[in-house]
Amino acid sequence: MRLLSIASGSSGNCIYVGDDTTHILIDAGISGKRIEAGLNSIGVSGKDLDAVFVTHEHIDHISGIGVLSRKYDVPIYATNGTIAGISTTRSVGDIDDQLYQVIHKNENITVGGLLIKAVPISHDAAEPVCYTITNGKSHAAIATDMGCYSEEIVENLKGMDAILLEANHDVNMLQVGPYPYYLKQRILGNKGHLSNETAGKLLCELLHDDLKYVLLGHLSKENNLPQLAHEAVRLEITMGETPYQANDFDITVASRSEPTKLLEF
Ligand SMILES: [Zn+2]
Ligand SMILES: [Zn+2]
Repeated sequence: MRLLSIASGSSGNCIYVGDDTTHILIDAGISGKRIEAGLNSIGVSGKDLDAVFVTHEHIDHISGIGVLSRKYDVPIYATNGTIAGISTTRSVGDIDDQLYQVIHKNENITVGGLLIKAVPISHDAAEPVCYTITNGKSHAAIATDMGCYSEEIVENLKGMDAILLEANHDVNMLQVGPYPYYLKQRILGNKGHLSNETAGKLLCELLHDDLKYVLLGHLSKENNLPQLAHEAVRLEITMGETPYQANDFDITVASRSEPTKLLEF
């Protein structure tokens, strides 16, 4: 399988996952043009898309979905709550009702040669989920936008070859930063976003010998720095109760605005 983060951050998210025959996106929260350019950079076209799976209705995950669905008739898979949220977001424009495919939490969906599972997450949206994707041989997970993680999340995210994991903010930068108090509380809360440190702790529970790639994503523009996220997560591994060192794994930070290196596994 292949995984490309076309954009990952609090101002837009779009992740490509696919193999030779099946091509899907997780979220479409950037412009149609940027999605196309990202796909083209790895030899895939918008026409090739088999599905878009949406994690939740926040605008940084859906802003390009109207354009994409109107241009290519791509089916949109999402939970009922997320579909309701997309339909009432006027800026995405009209979407043909027939393109919506309702998914339920913990359900496995087959699209072409891929099996996609929606796992519920804790976030301040209607019915948010993260996704795991497998072709039977390789396994990937896209897990962002969660204020905390449960045992259910840990169990579902184990055994991956590649994982894109949220490392949203540095708690100190957030606390002394420019955001108003209510927003700081929202981000720090159980339905907000994972800090660098918490991302590192979650990752420690997911490490195994065959984990090939870790991409840290959904970084905040105001409250994080790529190097800080990288170092904080690496430190959790090295200091944590695992048999591993940070250097045992390929850990990189996904760019907020550009495609990050193509992962093949
Ligand atoms: Zn988001
Ligand atoms: Zn969100």
